[in-house]
Amino acid sequence: MIKKIPKPAIEVLEKIEKAGFEAYVVGGCVRDLIMEKEPRDWDITTNAKPEEVLKIFPGDSFYENKFGTVGVKVEKFIDSDTLRDDREKDVIEVTTFRIESKYSDRRRPDKVKFAKTLEEDLSRRDFTMNALALKISNDGQKTSGKKSKFKIVDLYGGEKDIKNKIIKTVGDPNERFDEDALRMMRAIRFHAELGFEIEKKTLEAIKKNSKWIGHIAMERIKDEFAKIILSDNPADGVDMMHKAGILQYVIPELERGVGVSQNRHHIYTIYKHSIMALRKCPSKKLEVRLAALFHDIAKPQTKRGEGEFATFYNHDHVGARVVEKILTRLKFSNDVIQKVKLLVDNHMFYYNPDEVGEASVRRLIKKVGLENVKDLIDLRIADRLGSGTPKAKPYKLRHLEYMIEKVSHDAISVKMLKINGNDLMKGLGIKPGPKIGAILDVLLAEVIEDASKNDREYLLARAKELNTEDLVKLRTMAKEKIEEKKEEEDKEIKGKHWVK
Ligand code: ATP
Ligand code: MG
Repeated sequence: MIKKIPKPAIEVLEKIEKAGFEAYVVGGCVRDLIMEKEPRDWDITTNAKPEEVLKIFPGDSFYENKFGTVGVKVEKFIDSDTLRDDREKDVIEVTTFRIESKYSDRRRPDKVKFAKTLEEDLSRRDFTMNALALKISNDGQKTSGKKSKFKIVDLYGGEKDIKNKIIKTVGDPNERFDEDALRMMRAIRFHAELGFEIEKKTLEAIKKNSKWIGHIAMERIKDEFAKIILSDNPADGVDMMHKAGILQYVIPELERGVGVSQNRHHIYTIYKHSIMALRKCPSKKLEVRLAALFHDIAKPQTKRGEGEFATFYNHDHVGARVVEKILTRLKFSNDVIQKVKLLVDNHMFYYNPDEVGEASVRRLIKKVGLENVKDLIDLRIADRLGSGTPKAKPYKLRHLEYMIEKVSHDAISVKMLKINGNDLMKGLGIKPGPKIGAILDVLLAEVIEDASKNDREYLLARAKELNTEDLVKLRTMAKEKIEEKKEEEDKEIKGKHWVK
């Protein structure tokens, strides 16, 4: 059972009690303690009002909202978390007992009402598993650190539901989702994170109330959606959004692939393949998982023909634009959007060890950036496994990783050339201007083709030759060497594989 509550949490409980108030650890952290999981955050509920809580922790507490939650700063004790690595202290949230009044906009309570009893506070909580409270039980003995004993307050059968892995609302699910539609997303998020089933009546109520999700602020939906994607069962989460009728309001673009067949390279429909790619994605990164889910997002609209010879030309590039639109609407950060876009845009990269040499690998690295290549390979693995291909990492991809390692020190940017603009100005006696950049671009294109050419003397000699050409010619040469070669390859891929 409850084995350990961190000292800082116990100290906060004890201080509030010493001041003559009730105090309980409450909500998700009690659920996590029962499941022997590390809680994400620690919440305490009390009958002390925010001003009283501030007085109990002078200097170490702050009250910056209207919902009765005071943050109490304590020594760091929560396991390092990438999102919060720069924190100096941890914060335990102490919230006054509340009962929720009317939600006229289905979004937030009109005003916060404080409650007198723990019972009232527990009744406003979303799910039975989240409506548990834990108190230090004195049992006549002194409570300090290890000697503490705990007593659970469980008014809605939450412990039993945790044991049976069931997500069930406190009270009537239709009323509870009508009050706050975000709870529907939370139910699905917990389904994905904890692997619990959503109880039948609760699921029915989500189906019935799904359209109200449109009333919820996008940021809040995004937070839950990101948690689903980062959970242990992201594919189950997204598929549950679909089954429960939520997905059509949040990401209708994914619904377009439902029931749409592909061609002879695929056994799954577009929607099923997207879910499977997410399920099989080997990366834990948000961006790569999102790219796995969305890589074929534009297949429905680019599909030409039917049956086993259907094609999806350009679905990668169209998809990059569609995914940008979706993630912008969902209010993801620009960094996340750009990364997912890049991965989707390039997911059709061609690689076959028998035909593709080092130069193509360097071109791929130049195009997507060395820092993104591993993620692009992970996306390809997700794509392949998600289409029912038996081999996890075909030797082709293993070979590509080896090639990347091999060429990773080769020059793929002008900065990595053995000469620079100053060398050109001195060596060729030319003035600063666009011609220098153009010559360097041609040199880079040639070095990408043949890495042995990245030699100072050779490059200077070659630069002298190039200096006799005019600017327009030089620009065309650089372009031809890099981009048109790439296009040639693209055509080749499409010819050979006519787009998976
Ligand atoms: P986690 O911290 O792992 O995301 P959690 O259950 O602790 O999960 P929080 O968002 O931290 O979730 O909320 C803490 C508690 O507050 C919940 O366990 C629940 O009791 C209550 N709660 C949070 N959001 C709602 C809501 N929309 N409706 C009702 N109760 C809620
Ligand atoms: Mg929590």
